[in-house]
Amino acid sequence: MKSYKILLKRSFIFLFVCVFSCKSQVKKEINPEIISKKEVKKIVIPKYLTKNYVLGKFDFKKHSDFIRVPKNLSFKSIYLRKDVLNMFKQMAEEAKKDGVILKIISGTRNFEYQRRIWEYKWSDKYKNVVKDKRVLKILEFSSMPCTSRHHWGTDIDINSLSNKYFTKGKGKKEYEWLVNNAKNYGFYQVYTSKEGGRTGYNEEKWHWSYVPLSSMYLRFYNENITDKDINGFNGCEFVTKMDIIKNYVNGINPEILDYKK
Ligand SMILES: [Zn+2]
Repeated sequence: MKSYKILLKRSFIFLFVCVFSCKSQVKKEINPEIISKKEVKKIVIPKYLTKNYVLGKFDFKKHSDFIRVPKNLSFKSIYLRKDVLNMFKQMAEEAKKDGVILKIISGTRNFEYQRRIWEYKWSDKYKNVVKDKRVLKILEFSSMPCTSRHHWGTDIDINSLSNKYFTKGKGKKEYEWLVNNAKNYGFYQVYTSKEGGRTGYNEEKWHWSYVPLSSMYLRFYNENITDKDINGFNGCEFVTKMDIIKNYVNGINPEILDYKK
C-alpha cells in the first residue's frame, strides 16, 4: 500500500513537471513572434512621410520642415529640408577651409517641376525619336515625375551638371574632396559608375544625397509605391515596361542600399 502511494505521488510529480515544462515550451515558441512584432513597431514612420511626400506631391515652400538655402550657398532660389541644409552648411564650411567651394545648383523639385523637365524632353527635345528609344534617352539623366529623389528634400546637385567638369582642375579637386569627406556629413553620391553593374541613370558626379534620411524615404517608397502610383505625364505607359522602380529608383550606389542608420 505504501509503495502504491509513493508511486502515485511520483506519478503526480512527473505529471506536474511535464505540464509545467510543456507550458514553458509553448511560451518559448510564442515569444519570438511577439518580439518580432514589437521590433516592426519600433521603426517609427514620421507623420509627414506619406505617399504624396515621396511622389513629390506637396508644397515644399509651405512645409514647416523646409527652408530656403542662403544665397551664399546656392545659385538660385532653392529649398531643402532644414536638417539636410544644416549638415550641408557644416560640410561646406569644412570644405572652405581646404579651399573647396561647394554650392547647390538644384535641390527640392516637386512633381510639377519634374513633369516640366520630363515633358520638355519628351514633347520637344527628343520628339522625333521613336518612343522606345526616346524614353531610354531621357532616362540617361532625367527621372520620370513621381520617381525623382529631388522630390524628397534630401538630394542636391553640387557645382556643375557636367561629369567632365569634375575630371580636371578645380572640379577634380572638389569631387575628390567630396569623395573623401562627404560621408562624414551623411552625404553619398547616388549615381556612381555603372561598371559594377549598377542599373538606371548614368553616372552623376554632382548628385549627392543626405542618406540618414533618404534611406528611410527609399524604404517607405519601396513598401508603399507601385507602378499604378506613377502617372500623370506623357510617356507614363513605359513605367512598367522599363521596370522603373527596380531599375531606376533602386538603381543607386549600393552603399546607400546597404545603409543602416
Ligand atoms: Zn540631381
